[in-house]
Amino acid sequence: MTLRLYDTKSRELKPVATPNGVTSMYCCGPTVYRDAHVGNLRTFLLADLISRALTLSGVAVTLVQNITDVGHMSEDFQEDDKILTQASIEKIDPFEIARKYEGNFHKDLARLNIRPANLYPKASESIEMMQSMIAELIKKDAAYVGSDGSVYFDVHSSKSYGELSGNRLDALKPGHKHETSEDSAKKFHADWALWKAAGNRSQMVWPSPWGLGFPGWHIECSAMSLKLLNSHVDVHVGGIDLRFPHHENERAQSNAITGNESVDIWVHGEHLLFEGRKMSKSSGNVLLIQDVIDRGIDPIALRLCLLENRYRSQMDLTWKSIEAAHELLLRWRGKISVWAIEEGLQDTTEIDPEIESAIENDLDTPKILLRLRAIEKSELKNKRVLFMYADQILGLQLDAGVKEKTLTAQMKDLLEARSIARNEKRWADSDQLRVKLEELGLIIKDTPEGQTWS
Ligand SMILES: [Zn+2]
Repeated sequence: MTLRLYDTKSRELKPVATPNGVTSMYCCGPTVYRDAHVGNLRTFLLADLISRALTLSGVAVTLVQNITDVGHMSEDFQEDDKILTQASIEKIDPFEIARKYEGNFHKDLARLNIRPANLYPKASESIEMMQSMIAELIKKDAAYVGSDGSVYFDVHSSKSYGELSGNRLDALKPGHKHETSEDSAKKFHADWALWKAAGNRSQMVWPSPWGLGFPGWHIECSAMSLKLLNSHVDVHVGGIDLRFPHHENERAQSNAITGNESVDIWVHGEHLLFEGRKMSKSSGNVLLIQDVIDRGIDPIALRLCLLENRYRSQMDLTWKSIEAAHELLLRWRGKISVWAIEEGLQDTTEIDPEIESAIENDLDTPKILLRLRAIEKSELKNKRVLFMYADQILGLQLDAGVKEKTLTAQMKDLLEARSIARNEKRWADSDQLRVKLEELGLIIKDTPEGQTWS
């Protein structure tokens, strides 16, 4: 199996490189000042799918995902660090804020059955790494100390700047709010800060060869990816909103250091809408995993719902679609328990060529799910084996069975109605309800004490 992914820079499908049987991956991680919403998590799920697909084909994966706990400036407020802003709102130490939301982030990944990365470097613990890269950039004439004591990247030193996002340098206009105070200090308005002088700021600052200060956000990903992945990234993953300026700037920095193309494939996950509107905190339209759990829905149903759409198509998530995915998940889990009895628990793994080619072809998860629906309806005698093959990529824990607490409202209603029908000796109704319940994947047995299900 050769996995091919859509590369944003070349705008074509490219086979993933597997030098010596290992693929190096980097995924931009969360800024830990609030809970990741489902739109953010969709990107982290993308990294998980790529990693699972490679693992399935026998390739080892080294995945690094950073934790941004300093230096991510807010665009709403001039010169405010997102973590420091939240720390003053919650009235606790900024590092405590960061650790709190970092813990929540790992919990959310586990709830979505996203396998952990190999390394989760924190920005605040990688200061030296970033400083040494900044010093190297100054030495290579790609960065300079501005008149305000901050260090800036000289964008004109990057000849191919803009190739990733399509933003040509001469078409870029000055005027981002958070940049205005820097404008007089740097040579060109599109240059960006690698190291920010502390100024009035007293928290989360470090000494450096350029004075007290803190790192910029873009340098964080260059430093961590190159230093931890041996100076080359085979697959770089992030949300589409990071393509510019974050990834464009990261590419300029990294290429200046290595002298060649540091990232082989740039993979971007598309925007997620929720109930028809962009998911963003500022618009109040945000869905968290906890919201899904609070509705009695298994968070893995959310994973299934996201997989019904290709990662690079914009998707509109709705409560209706999440609930439909929950029904489907339980039906499949129920049927797999039934097939386990009918077909036996075979240890064999079989590859379904259609599913395999859908994986290889840029992770076509909707096609995998269509194929599973066809297998479900077929007369095949190895349905469970084929479902479990697909589940190595899908990660839906399809052999988890159906548990009391995961019964859907519809299942509970039908069980209740059948119990009443039996008490009232309406046998025809009872039989009809049994058929409906079996269609949902439940096995019904009648005992002297009443009906039971499994
Ligand atoms: Zn990044």
